[in-house]
This record gives sequence, structure tokens and C-alpha cells, in this order.
Amino acid sequence: MRIFDPHIHMTSRTTDDYEAMYAAGVRALVEPAFWLGQPRTTVGAFTDYFDSLLGWEPFRAAQFGIQHFCTIALNPKEANDPRCLPVLDELPRYLAKDRVVAVGEIGYDSMTKEEDEALAHQLELAIEHELPVLVHTPHRDKAAGTRRTLDVVRESGIAPEHVLVDHLNELTVAMVKERGSWMGFSIYPKTKMSEDRMVRILREYGTERVLVNSAADWGRSDPLKTRKTADAMLADGSFDQDAVDEVMWRNPVAFYGQSGRLDLDDVPKPDDSGLFEGNSVRRGGE
Ligand SMILES: [Zn+2]
Repeated sequence: MRIFDPHIHMTSRTTDDYEAMYAAGVRALVEPAFWLGQPRTTVGAFTDYFDSLLGWEPFRAAQFGIQHFCTIALNPKEANDPRCLPVLDELPRYLAKDRVVAVGEIGYDSMTKEEDEALAHQLELAIEHELPVLVHTPHRDKAAGTRRTLDVVRESGIAPEHVLVDHLNELTVAMVKERGSWMGFSIYPKTKMSEDRMVRILREYGTERVLVNSAADWGRSDPLKTRKTADAMLADGSFDQDAVDEVMWRNPVAFYGQSGRLDLDDVPKPDDSGLFEGNSVRRGGE
């Protein structure tokens, strides 16, 4: 089984996770730029982070046989902090880079005027750079927040097929399907979506334009939720291997492939000494 996790924050994860993901079938992933838990106070904190999503982390992933791509954006939460807004001016030079396969995560956190402006601006950047967008939907007030998000996305004029709307559930899937956008589901260990709920949604809405991710990060989360959902699809009896491959591999490849930059053969190479800027993932001369 081959798995592409279309939304996972590997910066927050360990090498054990990479090993377990590889053993479970994960061969490629997308790491969206997001909020790190600790508020950033300078633009340099963002650009250092973006550089690590384009440099160190793909190198680290490659040591474990996994291809790493990323999306770049000012996340919804930090769009409310005036100290962070100047990063919007840095985005164009990042959106031109090779392993950046979308603008994201953008969207709403608390649905403020500041978030409105950052969302509209970054949708414009996506259109200018001919990139798809990864849109986060708020965890509170999910249905109203998703409806408003879809309206702002439509007003921007971006093509619906360039839009992946993420963190959906039973209440929000239909409105995204109607718009012709891609539907993302994050499977979590305790709260929100579970594997079994996901299988029921797939039975009702089909596999077309559906993506499943672990959204694993620094919180309680499980980087193997993609594989566990694939297993739950097979155990349910309504889906065969081909349907699993569509959801777990072909759909994410098709969505992010619209960037023209999803080169699955372009594995980051170490320098002549086998290192990345002098560092390996090993310690103590192992
Ligand atoms: Zn995320």
C-alpha cells in the first residue's frame, strides 16, 4: 500500500515517527506552514521556519525514504498579530520555490477582520503564482465558518479545483463537494474525525476529490491515521485496494500536482560529506 499524507507537521515529530510511517506505507507527504504553538514576534522567525520546510526537513524525511513537500503561508491565527503581517511581503519569493506545492494553510481561526484581509490577500497570491490553496476551516463554529470561507474563496475568483478545504466533517462535506473543490479530512485520536466516521463519509459521498490526512503536529495526534483509515476502508468491505489507492495516493498527487512542482523523483541530496549544511540526523558519530 502506498500512502501520501497531504497534511502533516513533521517539524514537530520524531525520527521514530518517520520510521513507523515508512513501515506503514507512507512514501510522500506535504507539510503545511502553520502556527508553532509559541507566538512568533518577528518576520525572521517565519523565514527561518520556511527555510527549514524547504531545506532541513525534506533532507531529514529523505533519510527515511519519504518525499517531503510543503505549502507556505501566514497561518490564520498569527494573521491577527501586527508583528507577523510583514511576512506577507516575503511570501512571493517563497511561492516561487521548487518544493512549494500550494499556498497554505490559509483560512479562518476566529473570523476577524485581520483574518479576512490575510485570507483574501493570500488567495490573490495563489492566483498570481498559479498555485493551488490549502484552506483550513475553523474548529469552533464549523458550519458557519466553512460557509463563510467558501464565499470568500469564490469571491477571489480562484478555480474551485485549485482549492482543498480541510478539516471537514459530516456537517461541512456537502457544501464543499457542491462547489467542486477538493475535500480534506483530518483523522484525530480523540476529538473530531475518527477512522470509522471517515469510512461512513466515504460510503455516502464517494472517493472522488477526497483526501485523508493525519494533521499530526505538536498536539495529541497520530501520524499513522492515514494507514489506519485505509485499513478501516478495507475492513468495511465497501472499498477495494484501488479505492484506497485513489484516496491515499492518487487524489493528493492529482491535487498538489496542479502546482506543476510535485516531482516525486526529486529526492533532496546530501552534500559530498553526506550532510545537510554540516548536519546529519545522527548523533555521536554513529
Ligand atoms: Zn495543520
